[in-house]
Amino acid sequence: FNDNLTYPTKPADFDWQPYYPELPASKIAPTVIDIGCGFGGLTVELSSLLPDATVLGLEIRAKVCEYVRLRVISLRESEKGKYKNAACMRSNTMKNLVNYLNPKSLDKIFICFPDPHFKAKNHRRRIVSYDLLTEYAYCLKPNALLYLITDVKALHEWHLEKTDSHEMFERLDEETMESDPCVKAMINVTEEGKKVERSGSNKYYMVYRRLPEESVT
Ligand code: SAM
Repeated sequence: FNDNLTYPTKPADFDWQPYYPELPASKIAPTVIDIGCGFGGLTVELSSLLPDATVLGLEIRAKVCEYVRLRVISLRESEKGKYKNAACMRSNTMKNLVNYLNPKSLDKIFICFPDPHFKAKNHRRRIVSYDLLTEYAYCLKPNALLYLITDVKALHEWHLEKTDSHEMFERLDEETMESDPCVKAMINVTEEGKKVERSGSNKYYMVYRRLPEESVT
């Protein structure tokens, strides 16, 4: 599969300025990412919910990514001063996340309603795996959070099995999880989440904390 994407060999070579033209240079690198952001409902919501964050939606489909880019530009124009901390980049996050994200640079990673890849022979295409979790841990700051949600029960069980058994992650306690406004956002505002809502299906989710190295045994 040739996705025709170019990417830097290291994060220092990447220029974020075109993505966040109104942000000061000190705030220009992403601190929150929405992996497989689709049409960007969560990406734009997080930009308002977390005004001090720099939010990046990552989407592999060129047309969908362009839609989100234009959506953000139009929101910036209609609500002056807002949404300057939101952007969308075309990317295959399974291949080159660490090429443009610095180690320990992220406060939050969201993976919302990822493609389930039901057949066993396609499980290797799932966006949660031991190796990819290692990359997520590499990009997350110590104690930073990984948010996972799906409407597919078997995929949720896969998420729990993979992340529970990864040495760099531990479940967030339920009370903290349920009181986190980002959890409410990931349940309610993504386009896929709204579709699931309309069909009356369940949503399964979990939040994990990225452990600091010193607490990993
Ligand atoms: N998160 C959005 C939501 O909840 O509405 C979209 C969910 S949609 C079912 C999954 C999205 O992930 C699709 O837009 C797809 O193009 C994108 N995607 C799949 N594989 C990807 C990859 N390797 N890198 C980036 N995006 C990917």
